[in-house]
Amino acid sequence: MNPLYARATFVTAAHNLRQLPDDSLAEVAFAGRSNAGKSSALNTIAGHGKLARTSKTPGRTQQIICFGLGDGRYLTDLPGYGYAKVPKKQLDHWRQTLTRYLSSREPLRCLVLVMDVRHPLTDYDWLLIEAATRGNVALHCLLTKADKLSRSRAMAVLHATRKALEEAGVEASLQLFSALKKSGVDDAHELLDEFLAEIPPDARPAAPDDSSTPDR
Ligand code: GDP
Repeated sequence: MNPLYARATFVTAAHNLRQLPDDSLAEVAFAGRSNAGKSSALNTIAGHGKLARTSKTPGRTQQIICFGLGDGRYLTDLPGYGYAKVPKKQLDHWRQTLTRYLSSREPLRCLVLVMDVRHPLTDYDWLLIEAATRGNVALHCLLTKADKLSRSRAMAVLHATRKALEEAGVEASLQLFSALKKSGVDDAHELLDEFLAEIPPDARPAAPDDSSTPDR
């Protein structure tokens, strides 16, 4: 396991896009329907029992939670959606905020769309996919709770989901995952490594004037 992800620590809970960290160079966002298994997936990927809250704490579910990894790298936990209890006006507001975040957040490199393997690609998943596509953000589909299906059934869902995305002209990587069995964690780390592990030196903030430092 890349120890980078074990470093994830809570930085801020943003109610709106202006409150997001302004020193971010590279960010990967996790989104998913409420109850899809997003918090469990994040906790498993970070190797933390309780990084993301798995309980449905009202209020907290309506914020973008930012976890810092150091050097301007972040994981963000987007509010779960699809919960009928939220008033429609508030839901619409959050849909707009999320779609704006996905389509215009400059450091955002990848959206990890967490879906219960038994219910992939709901209408709202498509809304997020479209927003990420508009923002030129890579898409990774994490089909979780894979332990709930036989291996062959889970693979069939993976293939069907890939096909549906291809038919819609959406480029995406996909994987099976289980927080319960801790399977798919290496694949998830590889994906994050691709977007976060190495930040090119020219993307880092300029160092203070070091002209006095002798060449080595
Ligand atoms: P969130 O609302 O998307 O953050 O979902 P949670 O992570 O809170 O998970 C919702 C429910 O699904 C909880 O009861 C979890 O224990 C369960 N769950 C999450 N991941 C898995 C998994 O990989 N396998 C199984 N069997 N259950 C899971």
